[in-house]
Amino acid sequence: MRRPLPLLLLAIGAIYGAWAIAHGSPYTLRVLSVAGIYALLALGYLMIFGQAGALALSSGTFMGIGAYAAGIAAARYGIGFDLALPLAVGLPVLLAALVAIPVLRLQTHYFALATLIISQIALLVATEWVGLTGGANGIGGIGGLTLAGFPIRAGWQSLALVWSAVAVGGWLAARMTGGLAGAGFAVMRADGATARAIGLDTDALRFAAFLASAAYGGFAGALYVHTIRVVSPDVLGFPVMVTCLTIAVVGGRRRVAGAIGGAVLVTLLPEWFRALRDYYLLAYGAILLAVIVLLPEGITEAAETLLARLLRPAPAPLPPALPVPPIAVTRGPLLEIDALTRSFGGLRALDDVSLRLAPGEVLGLIGPNGSGKTTLLNCVTGLYRPDAGRIRFLGADITRLPTHAIARAGLARTFQTVSLVAEMSALDNVAIAVEAASVGLLRALGGTGPQFTRARGIARTLLEAAGAAEVAQLPAGSLAYGIRRRVEIARALALRPRLLLLDEPAAGLNETEQADLAARLRDLAQGGLALLVIEHNMPFLLPLADRMICLDHGRVIASGSPAEIQSDPLVIEAYLGRGAA
Ligand code: ADP
Ligand code: MG
Repeated sequence: MRRPLPLLLLAIGAIYGAWAIAHGSPYTLRVLSVAGIYALLALGYLMIFGQAGALALSSGTFMGIGAYAAGIAAARYGIGFDLALPLAVGLPVLLAALVAIPVLRLQTHYFALATLIISQIALLVATEWVGLTGGANGIGGIGGLTLAGFPIRAGWQSLALVWSAVAVGGWLAARMTGGLAGAGFAVMRADGATARAIGLDTDALRFAAFLASAAYGGFAGALYVHTIRVVSPDVLGFPVMVTCLTIAVVGGRRRVAGAIGGAVLVTLLPEWFRALRDYYLLAYGAILLAVIVLLPEGITEAAETLLARLLRPAPAPLPPALPVPPIAVTRGPLLEIDALTRSFGGLRALDDVSLRLAPGEVLGLIGPNGSGKTTLLNCVTGLYRPDAGRIRFLGADITRLPTHAIARAGLARTFQTVSLVAEMSALDNVAIAVEAASVGLLRALGGTGPQFTRARGIARTLLEAAGAAEVAQLPAGSLAYGIRRRVEIARALALRPRLLLLDEPAAGLNETEQADLAARLRDLAQGGLALLVIEHNMPFLLPLADRMICLDHGRVIASGSPAEIQSDPLVIEAYLGRGAA
């Protein structure tokens, strides 16, 4: 039993639900229905906020739009809940798609602001377009829920329908946030650039998560309007969004159980505290504040940690090691960079840089700090757009390709500071790179279990080859620096690259580790992998490189064999001499 918490919550929920149906007042049943509706809203919010890590403030609005769509369809055209669902879900999804194009790339606080503005516009439309929406008064007299044309009575029938929807919605959300997609989201949250560099299409993931949040919101809105039987601008108001945020933060924003449990708690707490009369808001606020301060990851994650400490579950067994699929041999030039230029403000970080790399060749790239080495790597991997010049890889122009596409084409890299997902196992850090191209929400709905297992098998082989097999099941954040470097190289190799770019791989390693890394890199080169190695450490680089290039102020000032570079007066002046002095 690897996930005891959801089962425990399910048992508590089932007992409480049975009690409520047997003994609860109609009012209690309605409150529980509303809790289920908020659970659906929170499940959507889990996708964009918890998983994609974007602070969206529009989920309440998506629910409001779904509510208005279903409410207007019912009141004006006599269309019941079930028939109006495509509209109630489709309209918020369409709006999300439209606003996502300009807004989704914005940095987190601008994104929050942009989604807030969208919410204000929706509220304004609902209040002012009186002919359609009934203005500030809204629309009343909306019928109850229906299913396949049959009326669903208020009380336990409605409750059962709502919570069936929560069950299905929760199951779908678990699929979209578990397995490969969940691992993809985790990499993306830890570091977007890394995620793209291992071949994850982070834009597509975030876009899909945003649309999913809109779909859940719209569905919740349709249920809501047929449960409370009126629709008014209140449903588009900011308090709905605040409730949604509270549920996410209190329940645990990354867990399905957190969204559902949080929704029940946040909806029921005020009811339980009603007996306190005037003091209820105070008690309610104090409890929320206590949770936020004491359990910043939310109640579910805290409970998970506690249960894990009590039950001490064994780590998931290692999958059988699988062979790494071979890489086709290529001839001709591998990497061709022509007249690459990139400026930051007035500073020319790269100035007319050209270079060639043949298959299987090891090119050393040196230069003083700030000479443009990392910028060159960032341009080649698509993280920076060059101002001018052209980059070809295997004969194809990749100058304008997005980073994930370049990675998938067979160009892998490591970063100057090792960037692994700390809380994820070393094995999964590598496995997600094996299958990065098949990470997506639609695919996740179909289930990714077998794919993930296969990827883990390949990852295990890669970790063994990198000399990190013994740490496969440990969280990457707990590893020593030298081992983390090995895991990162194993992850880069998971892309089955033709060319591996390494940004100061020996930095921070002791001499034994350096010698070990040099030997491993030499083996890789002997196996036919081309390497571009940025390094300050000459004893490390000189025996490794077939050819070297020296950058200074963004310009190539020398290129040749390691021996030629070592004795080049310009290099000594710009770099080696300075180091010697
Ligand atoms: P190196 O890796 O050779 O030490 P970099 O490529 O990191 O050097 O940096 C080259 C120059 O470009 C430096 O002056 C650096 O400050 C500047 N630079 C690099 N990236 C950025 C950025 N994103 N924004 C502004 N300036 C940058
Ligand atoms: Mg650098």
